[in-house]
This record gives sequence, structure tokens and C-alpha cells, in this order.
Amino acid sequence: PKKHSPFNLTSIVRVIVRVRPFLPHEISRSSDKAIPCVSVLDLPLQSDSEVTVSVKDPHSCRNESYKLDSFYGEKDNNLRRIFEREVMPLVPAVLNGYNATVFAYGATGSGKTFTMQGSEELPGLMAMAAAAILSMTEKRVEISYYEIYMERCYDLLEEKEITILEDKDGRPHLKNLVKIPIHSMADFHETMRRGTQRRKIAHTGLNDVSSRSHGVLVISVSENSSLIGKLNLIDLAGNEDNRRSGNEGVRLVESQKINQSLFALSNVIYALNNKSSQIRIPYRESKLTRILQDSLNHALMVACLNPGEYEHSAHTLRLAARSR
Ligand code: ADP
Ligand code: MG
Repeated sequence: PKKHSPFNLTSIVRVIVRVRPFLPHEISRSSDKAIPCVSVLDLPLQSDSEVTVSVKDPHSCRNESYKLDSFYGEKDNNLRRIFEREVMPLVPAVLNGYNATVFAYGATGSGKTFTMQGSEELPGLMAMAAAAILSMTEKRVEISYYEIYMERCYDLLEEKEITILEDKDGRPHLKNLVKIPIHSMADFHETMRRGTQRRKIAHTGLNDVSSRSHGVLVISVSENSSLIGKLNLIDLAGNEDNRRSGNEGVRLVESQKINQSLFALSNVIYALNNKSSQIRIPYRESKLTRILQDSLNHALMVACLNPGEYEHSAHTLRLAARSR
């Protein structure tokens, strides 16, 4: 059992599962398709012990099961509850001087953007976290928003590419990343709208890069111009397996870069969770892990699943379980 505690210095990365409901058009197409391929085997009595999640192919007898930290099924579609139980415990940590990260991980169409970004009517974890932080501190709150595409980093609040620099202690930081102070949720939404718009229109000629890039929102809290803590909220690129998706050319290179960085992330999280004194944490294997080097000790990975996609769900669960 792993519980977040802001005063616990050991690294803890919780890995939880969220299964989105079937969408109306997925149900009406064929009743056979509306049987979810994912279920939880043993729901523990205590909320802090691990769960066993099973994934079954409806067309064969293949099935696999994985141990994870928590399960939110398609019938339990309450993001507020996930926020309160899984993300909220990270907020005092951030206000008390720690950095933390929340990831949404999964195939395209599994609900990552819905979970992280949501919409102004149905707020996602990004907006819920911003609201909680704004209500809990009088200190300066700022947001940055950037994306990592093909191992390059782009600011979404101003049109520019950003480079990673290392300070004199070898700690990486993003040079000239724009930070916008926010005082209210209206400020938050306005800035997010700008960033989301830019994320859609950047990379001319390539359509929908947003699902093939990692989108990173950083909410930072500072006082007297020195940083106290920050929360990174990340909508990861789709993790589809390129051996199956038949990608070629640019798409294949993209997909290889995505998979390398997700694999690097999984390796880093595994190393952090199973730290023995000598082990070297392989942060340098990708841009994402290099940038997040200072923010992975307190983290939450939300593995998002589409209940109608056996192959993708099995792939996501395999990598998620491997990170614990
Ligand atoms: P991803 O970002 O992983 O590609 P999206 O977040 O875009 O996936 O979700 C795919 C579709 O499913 C969208 O139409 C979205 O509105 C819908 N969806 C995702 N999660 C939920 C949910 N929990 N409840 C209802 N609809 C959802
Ligand atoms: Mg998305």
C-alpha cells in the first residue's frame, strides 16, 4: 500500500486505473461491443491497498491481470472523487516545498484529455488542481504550458521553441519558459484557452499533433520570487503500439519517439519506486524524464482505458503495472 504523504521523503508513484464509459455511438453500433474488457477482481476493503485489474479479450479466452494502486471503473465516472482521493493529497506537498506530477497515460481515445483538461463545463484535473491551489494559498501562483513533440519542446503561451539548460548543479530547467500569474479561475481558463488553441494550430501541415505530443501544464507557487513548489499536470501522447498500428514515415518516427519517451518514463518510475541505494535513475533517456527530474518523487499515473479496446487496454495496463 502506498499513500501520499507530503512529509514523506521517500519517492512514491501511485499508479491508478480509470476506465471511461462507452460513448453513445459505441453502444448503439452493436450490443456485443458494449461489454467492457476491463474489470477489477478484488476490491479491497481499505482504500489504500492494491487492486487486481483483469483485462479480457471478448473474442477469445485471452485474459491478463495486473496489480495496481486503485481502480475507477466505467460505472464510477466521478472525476471529483478521483481528484479528492488521488490528486488532492499532492497539493499540501506542493504548498510545503515539494514538486509533484500527475500523468494521464493511455491510447488515443482512452480519455486522457477528458481527464486532464476536460472543458470549461466539465473541468478536468488541471482546473480542479488550479482551483484548489488558488483557494489554499495567498502566495504567487503562476502557470506555464508547453508541449514535447518529437523530443523537442515548444512553449504554448508564446510562439517559440524552448531549450533545456542545466544550472551549475546540473539541474535541468527550461530556458525562458513563459510563466503567467493567475489570481482567479477566470485567469486560469483564459490562459489555458490560449495554450490549447496554440496546441491545435502549431505544426502546420500535420494534423492533430496534440494527441501525439505530451502536453505539460505547470502550476507553480512562489514567494518573494523564489519557487516553493510546483505541480506538473501532463496529458501524455497516445501510447499505441506501433508494431500494430502499421505506421510509416513521419508517423513511424513520431511513434518511436513517443514510445521511447514513455518507456523511459516507466523505467524512471520503476527505479524510483524500487530504489535501492546504488541504483542510478535513468532520467537522461528522454526529454520528458530530464525535464521532470525534479518532480517525480511524488507522482500519480492515471492509466486511462477505453472499455471497448482489448489490445490497447492490455498494453496500457502492462506498462502501467511495470512502473510500480
Ligand atoms: P484521449 O485524449 O486519450 O485521446 P479523449 O479524452 O479525447 O481521449 O476521449 C475520447 C472521447 O471519449 C472523447 O469524445 C471524450 O469526450 C470521451 N470521454 C473520455 N472520457 C470520458 C468520460 N470519463 N466520460 C464521458 N466521456 C468521456
Ligand atoms: Mg487527447
